[in-house]
Amino acid sequence: MPRKYNIEVSPAPPRFPPVGKFVIERSAADCINCGRCVLTCIHSVHARLDEDLRRMAEPEDYRCKGCFRCVQECPKEALTIRSSDEYLRLGDSYWTPEIISKNWYQAETGKVPVSGAGYLGPFSGEGFDSMWTDMSEIVRPTRDGIHGREYINTSVDIGRKVPVIKFDAQGRIVSPLPPTLSVPLPILFDTLPFGGYGNVYEAVARAASFLGTLMIVDPDAWFNKEYEANAVPVLTQSALEDSVTACKMAELDYGSTVLGAVEELRNANPETIVSVRVPFGDTAAEIAEELTCAGVEVVHLYADCNGKQIDPPGPGEPRLLKDMILEVHRQLVARKIRDEVTLIASGGIAIAEHVAKSILCGADLVAIDLPLLIALECRYCKNCHSSGLKCPVSLKDVDPRYGAQRIINLVGAWRNQLLEVLGAMGLREVRRLRGELGRAIFFEEIQRETFDTIFAKEVSYNVKAGN
Ligand code: SF4
Ligand code: SF4
Repeated sequence: MPRKYNIEVSPAPPRFPPVGKFVIERSAADCINCGRCVLTCIHSVHARLDEDLRRMAEPEDYRCKGCFRCVQECPKEALTIRSSDEYLRLGDSYWTPEIISKNWYQAETGKVPVSGAGYLGPFSGEGFDSMWTDMSEIVRPTRDGIHGREYINTSVDIGRKVPVIKFDAQGRIVSPLPPTLSVPLPILFDTLPFGGYGNVYEAVARAASFLGTLMIVDPDAWFNKEYEANAVPVLTQSALEDSVTACKMAELDYGSTVLGAVEELRNANPETIVSVRVPFGDTAAEIAEELTCAGVEVVHLYADCNGKQIDPPGPGEPRLLKDMILEVHRQLVARKIRDEVTLIASGGIAIAEHVAKSILCGADLVAIDLPLLIALECRYCKNCHSSGLKCPVSLKDVDPRYGAQRIINLVGAWRNQLLEVLGAMGLREVRRLRGELGRAIFFEEIQRETFDTIFAKEVSYNVKAGN
């Protein structure tokens, strides 16, 4: 049995008050400082001033859940609550305020966010929101919790798997075994889309080292030999430097000469696992097949930050991460070469459920980018994209140790949610989840196979009946 892997989390309170969903105003004219609101709020929004316990401090409204209990209990009707415009402006249509604030919460506490009973979201949406997981094993009475006796393994092997292993008469393996690498969770850290300050990279590297995962990094932007054991440099084909090819794994961007560069890298260091980065697009499945047949052991398919296709970016609706992973996986399965290659998917992995759903669709593991910055309190305001605007959370001043803890907390909470999914599916290994499409329900399929049939019959009946 593999060593029990567990992520120790530790509270890392925000440096700046996060943007909350609600704004609470206390009327100084009406408030009599009775402190009843302190007692009534279970989320510690209200407190007395440390320096003068007779007076009330400003409410920490980012913790407010909008239950209105303090408003109702206040004897002087001194409190008002309204929704925050700043909250509603956070992020964009993909990185919604809810996604950003829940990731902040997980980075602060390391806990799984609980929103209460029932699901209040829409029935279906696009991309990952159009698939559900079959958690039928959740009814099994013997399951004793995600941290219980039944260990659930989240480790994944990266590299080429040999289809057959041959032994000699003495029982020694004679088949050449390609290098493989095992990571304890199916989440790698990808290159940063922005916010590439030295201390941010160091925070990410520290977290990768603590968690035992890998950090994909552009060595021209940052590289530190101290963290080499967990680094995956993205090498330009013209700069296959010895200093970085000593890493366990390296990445090359896809291009017409990439196979030559893969060969060169292998010759320089036969123990290095080589991954090729391919932009998700119309031809990603053909490229993945071509690379796998040419002996490339890892293909890293990346979408943009919102999980949309990159190549070609042309007009029309871009394809989404879920569909693109599915297409590549199915094509490799059809060619009977799926087990020869490790697939990494990235771009638009925004919440814990995207990890499980990407793997269900056929990825071996995912790489995350923007969540790393959100863990460091980034508001995705894009101020840093426009010259002259100040980062509201001063990302460049983050203490790497503190930043690493926030990333560890976020990944710890995400892994616990993955364990919950695996436990509820009755799977004890994340490797078993890969491409397990029998455990996924796709809205498009039930729409076509079930609802369309029912409604088509209804329409035909109505037509015959002359209604
Ligand atoms: S309950 Fe009302 S009056 Fe009392 S301290 Fe709170 S806001 Fe002020
Ligand atoms: S300026 Fe905005 S988007 Fe840029 S790092 Fe700071 S919070 Fe994030």
